[in-house]
Amino acid sequence: MKKLIVFDLDGTLAESKAALDDEMVTMLTNLLSVAKVAIISGGDWPQFEEQVLGRLPEKKRLKNLSILPTCGTKYYQYNKGWKQLYAENFTDEERVKITHDLHEGVELSGIKFSKIWGEQIEDRGSQITFSALGQKAPLAAKKKWDPEFTKRKKIKIKLDKSLRGFSVNMGGATSIDITKSGVDKAYGIQKLQQTLRIKIAEMIFIGDALFEGGNDHPALTTGVECIQIRDPEETKSVIKGIIACLSVKKKAK
Ligand SMILES: [Mg+2]
Repeated sequence: MKKLIVFDLDGTLAESKAALDDEMVTMLTNLLSVAKVAIISGGDWPQFEEQVLGRLPEKKRLKNLSILPTCGTKYYQYNKGWKQLYAENFTDEERVKITHDLHEGVELSGIKFSKIWGEQIEDRGSQITFSALGQKAPLAAKKKWDPEFTKRKKIKIKLDKSLRGFSVNMGGATSIDITKSGVDKAYGIQKLQQTLRIKIAEMIFIGDALFEGGNDHPALTTGVECIQIRDPEETKSVIKGIIACLSVKKKAK
C-alpha cells in the first residue's frame, strides 16, 4: 500500500511561482488525511510559504507533510512549527564558479533575451537557479519562452561541460537549477525514506519534468513509481484516484 505521495511543485501542484488554487488546497488537505505527502521543488523555503503553506488552513495535518525546497537540498519537517533537518549549502568557491560559468554558458549558447524582469541568477544557498526571463517575469511570458525546453537544453550542454561535479537540471517554466552533484530529487527521496521510514516501494512521485534533463528526472533513478503529468489539472485527477484508492484500502483494513 502506498504511504507517501511526493509531488513536484511548479507545473505540478501550481503554475510556475503561483499559489495553489482552492481546488488543489482541498485535494491536498484530503490527501493528508489518508497518506503522508512530501513536496520537492526547485523553489526555496519562502516560495513554499507563499505558494503552499500560507494556503493550507489546517495545522493539525501538517505533521503528515514534508517540505524539501531547492530540489531536496533542504528538508523541513513539522513538529510544533517547521524545523529544518538539513541544508546542503555551497561553499563560497563553488558559488563563484557556478555564477561565473552560468554567465559564460548563457553567452556561449547564443541565446538572446529581448526583455528581462528582475535578476536572472538567484543564490538559494544550496542551489543556484538561472531564471531565463528574470525572477519577476510574468507567467504568460514564461510559458511562451521555452515550452519544449530547446533553449535551456542549449545552455545545459555548455554547463554540463564546465560544471562537472554539479547537478544541472531544467525545471519550472524557464529555469535551470544547479546543486551539488548527487544532491537532487533522488537525494531528497532517499532522505524521505530514512526520515519517515517509508520504503521507496510505498511511495509515488508525481511531476511534470520526468524526462531526461528535467529536474524531476533524478526521482526516476531511485526506482520510485513515477507519474508524469502535463499540468496541475492533470495532477488533480491523479490525486482524486489516489484518495479513492487509499480510502477504500483503509476501510477494508
Ligand atoms: Mg516542475
